[in-house]
Amino acid sequence: MHAIMDKTGFASDTEHDPRWAAVLARDSRADGRFWYSVASTGVYCRPSCASRRARPENVRFHASCADAERAGFRPCKRCRPDQPGLHARQAAMVADACRLIESAEQAPGLATLAARAGLSQFHFHRVFKAVTGVTPKAYASAHRARRVRSELARSDSVTAAVYDAGFNASGRFYAQAGAMLGMRPGEFRAGGANTAIRFAIGECSLGAILVAASGRGICAITIGDDPDALARELQDQFGEAELIGGDAGFERLVAQVVGFVEAPRIGLDLPLDVRGTAFQQRVWQALRAIPAGATASYSEIARAIGAPKATRAVAGACASNPIAVAIPCHRVVRNDGGLSGYRWGVERKRALLEREARK
Ligand SMILES: [Zn+2]
Repeated sequence: MHAIMDKTGFASDTEHDPRWAAVLARDSRADGRFWYSVASTGVYCRPSCASRRARPENVRFHASCADAERAGFRPCKRCRPDQPGLHARQAAMVADACRLIESAEQAPGLATLAARAGLSQFHFHRVFKAVTGVTPKAYASAHRARRVRSELARSDSVTAAVYDAGFNASGRFYAQAGAMLGMRPGEFRAGGANTAIRFAIGECSLGAILVAASGRGICAITIGDDPDALARELQDQFGEAELIGGDAGFERLVAQVVGFVEAPRIGLDLPLDVRGTAFQQRVWQALRAIPAGATASYSEIARAIGAPKATRAVAGACASNPIAVAIPCHRVVRNDGGLSGYRWGVERKRALLEREARK
């Protein structure tokens, strides 16, 4: 009698428990938040386990593996709930591949990277892209670009820098350099002296808004109370570039950006000229994967780029984001959901998030 009552109680409690929905959905986002045991088999699983669905009356939830084991359950052999989760293993594997790319003279090919990870090339490519937001090849290029940048700053000839950074033919470097540096090598060495940057300052609901673009795309969107201060900041950021006030054509582009800031869900169909270190680029790429209406924590971004311990560096990259809203650093919040800081003021961050939360 007692057993029957227990069973009935468990079934209905389980079915009304939000964790049961995660188990039914095999939701991997719930992995690491709780575990469930199955009385009929004596094992416990992580929520995403692909094993046969248990009957709710046999299921109990546990806050930890230790809790499940104290209650007498064994770890499932299929989902290995006591081992690091799939996300953690993938992040570690991708971090290992990134280190290999960074330390190699010649960027390793996809076949080498996949074999080291023990995956097919197709699967490896997909996992790498899902974790970092870029392909292994793009990651290798970005890393090489960073080496070129630091070499250019101290080498006296562009050609020497090109060879030092491991490019086998300077023709190829020149073809790629524009995309990676945002300007041609000679210009970069001169501190951007020959780069023309057009800019204009407009008004949006969040205050004054400055939009600046090089010939390659938008390189800055900043928001503030004082238009003059925005212009001075731009000057500091692009010290040697030639800053030119926008013409009528540019005003249209600013209008498009203002429209986007007012309604981020419509998206911004303009190229960005993003300048930063390889690490910053990875963070900013990951930010761009957070859809309007959603948020992520600093540690989620750190995990997404395969650097789970780099939470502070991620926060630093968010704080140095040069392109407001289009690189949505306002969608990153503290682990407890608190707003934390925002380069352009926490009240603007709150306003943007509230706006995006409305459908
Ligand atoms: Zn399992």
